[in-house]
Amino acid sequence: QYQGEKPFRPVARVSAPAAPPADRPTELLTLTPWLAPIVSEGTFDPELLQDMYQPLNLTIGVTAFAVGRYTGFVRHFLESAERFFMHGYRVCYYVFTDDPAAIPRVPLGAGRQLSVIPVQKHARWEEVSTRRMETISQHIARRAHREVDYLFCLDVDMVFRNPWGPETLGDLVAAIHPGYYAVPRRLFPYERRPVSAAFVADGEGDFYYGGAVFGGRVARVYEFARGCHMGILADKANGVMAAWQEESHLNRRFISHKPSKVLSPEYLWDDRKPQPPSLKLIRFSTLDKDTAWLRS
Ligand code: UDP
Ligand code: MN
Repeated sequence: QYQGEKPFRPVARVSAPAAPPADRPTELLTLTPWLAPIVSEGTFDPELLQDMYQPLNLTIGVTAFAVGRYTGFVRHFLESAERFFMHGYRVCYYVFTDDPAAIPRVPLGAGRQLSVIPVQKHARWEEVSTRRMETISQHIARRAHREVDYLFCLDVDMVFRNPWGPETLGDLVAAIHPGYYAVPRRLFPYERRPVSAAFVADGEGDFYYGGAVFGGRVARVYEFARGCHMGILADKANGVMAAWQEESHLNRRFISHKPSKVLSPEYLWDDRKPQPPSLKLIRFSTLDKDTAWLRS
């Protein structure tokens, strides 16, 4: 699956054509065809970005859902975020759970706080996933819009392994799915049935993004999550469940509402896959849920 022998090139493709990347592997790109940066190690200067962003006195929010047995992931998620996520910034973690008592009190650094927000438990895991967009948009409208400048919405069954800093900040941010950065566009697992609001036609699409990471300016994340929720509601009314649930709707919406910044798979990796030589750094990665973590 990984044709991943070609290295990320820390240079822009000045000849980037206007057409979508079609069958070009995205690992070669540092700019999208609409001129959004694709962020990976070697494309930015961390010290320079730190000097630019530190004086802005920003607050960065994080949403993570921990419903049912997923409460077991919270400690590792938060502890690793404390080590690597937005060091030196104010951070608000919003953990949504059906079992607040199960959320560990992880010690947090100065200027960093945790809010545990009760949510209902849904019977099926698909329900948990399809409710996230609704819950996120409501939470932004009620509260987060006053508290944070940028918001990242992340899966909880993941850990930070290397620094995630201000290079990730942008108006609307998507992350390339680790399974599809070296795969031709026609093989992307978009929803292909026109009956779904997440439908993507054959000639459409840019990248296949992961549902585990998206973010941006809080107002933009509100619009984005709300738009995805509307698509999910429309599908529900028609008795349709998109191929990859919420991720299908996210991918649909990112085609018509292009991300202003794209994160390389460094920011959304999966430890169950071998690390290809082209991937210099893994910053945020899915744990091997069924074995290593649950048994440790
Ligand atoms: N989730 C949850 N409880 C569940 C299922 C999902 O809290 O029973 C949340 C959790 O934050 C998880 C996210 O929804 O990280 C997405 O689900 P999952 O990680 O299982 O999807 P995958 O990454 O395997 O596609
Ligand atoms: Mn996950």
